Amino acid sequence: MEHHDRLSGLVRLHVFHHAAEEPICGQWMIDELARHGYRLSPGTLYPMLAKVERDGYLTSRSERDGRTVRELYTVADKGREGLAVARRRLHELIRKTGQE
Ligand SMILES: [Zn+2]
Repeated sequence: MEHHDRLSGLVRLHVFHHAAEEPICGQWMIDELARHGYRLSPGTLYPMLAKVERDGYLTSRSERDGRTVRELYTVADKGREGLAVARRRLHELIRKTGQE
């Protein structure tokens, strides 16, 4: 994807936003991000989820669904804080670019 590295922060915020609303699984997130125009493969998304979980922004638990087990991700306090800070900064940025 063009601009991929620059946008990865936005993708993370998007994940935090949804994980704050309800527990989400990776495949759901891939479909949701595609809807917004971010094309992520599982090979990109899962390592990213693992990293933000290691960093304390998300927590995950395994849920058995018949014979398959899937990971459900929920935002942690740190992720909720990060989301609030990012939201404020984005609003600031949008206000500024609106004035120019
Ligand atoms: Zn979304």
